[in-house]
Amino acid sequence: MILILGGTTEASAFARLLAARPDRPALISLAGRTLKPAQQPLPTRVGGFGGAAGLADFLAANGVRAVVDATHPFAEKISANAALACAETGTPLLVLRRRPWQAEPGDEWTEVEDAPAAALALGRKARRVFLTVGRLELPAFLAAPQHHYLIRTVDPPEALPPKAKLILERGPFVEAAETALLQKEKIEVIVTKNSGGEATYAKIAAARALHLPVILMRAPERPSVACVDTAEAALAWLEGMQSRRD
Ligand code: NAP
Repeated sequence: MILILGGTTEASAFARLLAARPDRPALISLAGRTLKPAQQPLPTRVGGFGGAAGLADFLAANGVRAVVDATHPFAEKISANAALACAETGTPLLVLRRRPWQAEPGDEWTEVEDAPAAALALGRKARRVFLTVGRLELPAFLAAPQHHYLIRTVDPPEALPPKAKLILERGPFVEAAETALLQKEKIEVIVTKNSGGEATYAKIAAARALHLPVILMRAPERPSVACVDTAEAALAWLEGMQSRRD
């Protein structure tokens, strides 16, 4: 059995490839953070494992032959747990992760480590900010209440800064609509994560065209394990592993 740690577009794409391969039984695991997760083409389990030790127990109890960690580039804990649990149980591990976006001519980026640094980088003067960092990162912006925020999340956040307008929407997004939104809301600066991938890139392209600055949170460093950036490459890794075993 193959365990996919999911919650991303890449994980769902890989799940679709495996769903067409009944010779490779697989299970997808979701953290359970989104209220209405995207429908998965494979058997699905939801919720944490109980740290690295819990995940190691799960791998052993379910006869997992390989783990594909296809979690989001910013999901740091689960990836660290997967590396530990796979090392402990001798389970092969592959990371399937999209590459971060790279700046292009015309991009005006400030890269920062985390959400508190992003809030600080907005400066003292009140600005009109488009904030798309995920609802769990929003508390950091309570420390910068002078700004007017247009906040977009998938699920409703628990706390919002005082001057905030909320949009609940899930990607993918297109550039024309992002441009219209930025103009209508008179946005002066965008704050987001450098998540990579196509689904949420439109705001970066729109910012470039409108000459707007972007404050980008950098993805955290990850344990060094085998890594690919497409579902097809992950399938090739699995097949290579199988043929080495045979
Ligand atoms: P995280 O901080 O790395 O993980 C926190 C805890 O959530 C983990 O220790 C684990 O609990 C549980 N968990 C995370 N992913 C899981 C999975 N796929 N299956 C089972 N348990 C999981 O993760 P996060 O940043 O909160 O992200 C949670 C999920 O949302 C991830 O699956 C990720 O792919 C997805 N996501 C995250 C972001 C983001 O910006 N962080 C964006 C889009 C999607 P236990 O220790 O109890 O096992």
